[in-house]
Formats: sequence, structure tokens, C-alpha cells
Amino acid sequence: MRFTTFAASSAALVLAASSLAQAPARPAGPPRVPTREIKQITGDLYRASNGNWYTIFLVTPDGIILGDPLNVQFAQWLKGELDSRFAGKPVRYVVYSHSHFDHAEGGAAFAATATFVAHENMARNLDGRYPQMPGDMVDRNNNGVIDRAEIDIPTTTRPGVCGMGPGFFDTFDRNGDGTMTPQELQAFIVKPTVLYSERMRIELGGKVVELVHPGLNHSDDATVMLFPAERVVFATEFLADALVTTDIHSLPSACGPFDGNPLAEWIKSYRTVEALDFDVLAGGHGGTLFSKADVAATRVYFEDLVADVSAGIAAGKSLEELKQSVTLEKYRGWVNYERLRSYNVEAAYNNLKLYR
Ligand SMILES: [Zn+2]
Repeated sequence: MRFTTFAASSAALVLAASSLAQAPARPAGPPRVPTREIKQITGDLYRASNGNWYTIFLVTPDGIILGDPLNVQFAQWLKGELDSRFAGKPVRYVVYSHSHFDHAEGGAAFAATATFVAHENMARNLDGRYPQMPGDMVDRNNNGVIDRAEIDIPTTTRPGVCGMGPGFFDTFDRNGDGTMTPQELQAFIVKPTVLYSERMRIELGGKVVELVHPGLNHSDDATVMLFPAERVVFATEFLADALVTTDIHSLPSACGPFDGNPLAEWIKSYRTVEALDFDVLAGGHGGTLFSKADVAATRVYFEDLVADVSAGIAAGKSLEELKQSVTLEKYRGWVNYERLRSYNVEAAYNNLKLYR
């Protein structure tokens, strides 16, 4: 019991610290600089990290293909590192994994040389209307702007898992008027100018990256990057969310009804990745590299969750009954089992009711 409490509160602190680190510098308080590292994956392919947020880049003779810029301070740091390590080779492409601000900010550092590429749905999420958001932050009152309560409700209901860390709203409400417009939230995101719908191939300096839209999941505008020669996949969030540090066998955050996308689409997204020819998953979160078998294991978790909750619904059980009876016994040893099992059942129940 004691251990559970400690583990839960330290995870919340980590998430809060990461959230603060994502935000632009605030005038008050000491600056908080997360750990930043560049690590080689294989050959000319590297991971770069900002705390538990990760991106990827491939160095070619004609320049660099980069994944997410993550945030303004990180991108400026990365630009300096790339310039000094790779003899000033320019970043030619920035490929967005999805539109959420905590991965997509900071592209200005590369805008002089790079083309920005994304799935076509990212344009909708950056067009000034309320975007698809992570962590159960939704337009509850349907007024088109992000109200404090729309951040605070998920933050206080599911601290350290959904919503954002303390101070988030005030940092992003840049004019301090008590509401956050989508433009304020996305002020540091460079819009993509090249959009694709299903797949796209980028060739640069004799090297190749395949972009794949896997389906709807944590976001509605995801891109998976496949590096075929390196046999590596880069994907964020839906395979390993921000709670994953070293073990991908972790119950998902399950915010809202699974981020407002049908569970059938989540499972399709996993299967799309599994169908790619690769050995290593470099995730947007998680300090270690994962395998294709790890992706399959997390997909089977979703299938088991859907099967158990569907069977309960078909048998006429209530949500409260299902939260007791769907024990997901096979996953008792997974990270966050105690903390998130009943939330997963509830999110699946609501999802299956919404999208059946
Ligand atoms: Zn996200």
C-alpha cells in the first residue's frame, strides 16, 4: 500500500516536471532543464531526447531527416548539436508524428532549410478550430476555445495521467484573458506544407524513410516513420504512451474514452505497424528500444480488453459490475496494473458504447 502510494505520486511528479519542461520559459521560478541526449540507434540513425520525450533523425550525405522538434528550447539545443556533430548538415525534412503541442513545437529552429511534412489531418488540427487533444482535454462546453476547466477537470480527476501538469494553463494563456485559444496553444508549431493521406516516401542523399498513417488512435493525425534499411520504426504515444519509461508492458493511460477514437481503430493501428518490415521500435516515450514482439503484446492487451468488456456488455452487466469483474488477470504483472485497470475498463466501456 505504502509502495503503491509512493509510486503513483512520483509518476505524477515526473509527468508534471515533463509538462513544465515542454512549456516556454516563465519569468518566475528557476529554469528547469530536462535531460537531453543524443544516442545512436544504428548506422546514421539516432534518437534524441528531452526528458522522457523522444525524437529520431537520419543523417544522409545531403542533409538530415528529423522527426518531431518537441519544443522550442529542445529544438534550439538540437540544432546546435546537429551543426557541431554533423558539420553543419542542414535539416531538410521535419516529419510530425502527430499535431499535439508537446511533440510538435519548436520547428522554427529548422524552418530556414526544412520542409515540414505531416498526415493531412494535422492541417485540420492547426486551422484555428478546437484541435483533437490528448489526455481527455476536450471542448466540454463546445465554445471553440480551451477553458481552464477543460484542462483542470482531467488533471484533477486523473492526476499525473490525464490533463496537464500544474501551471500549464497560465503558461499557454499567453495574453492572460482566462481562455486559451487554439492559436495560443499552438503558437510555437510550424505548420506542415506537405501533407499525405495514406503513405509517403522521402528519399534524400540515397537514403529512404517511409511515412505511414496507421489509423486513428491517441491522435487522429498520426505518422509512423519506417527506416527500411535500418529496420527501425519511430512512432509516438499509441504504442508506448508518456507513462512508459523502460517497460512497454504498461497499461495505457486510457484518458476519456481512449482519446475519442474507436478501439477498433487503435487495434488496426497496431496491426498496421506490425505489418511493416522492421526489428526495432524507437518510441516517442520510453528510454529503451523495443521489439516487434513488444508491439504485438501491447496489441493483444487491447484485444483482450475489448473482448472482456464486450462480453460483459453483451451479458447486460453495468459499468460498475464490469470494473469489478474484468480483472485482466493476465496483465497483473504489467506496469500500472493496480493504478489503471479500472480506468481502462471504464474507457473501453464508454468507447464501445460510443462507437459500436
Ligand atoms: Zn500526443
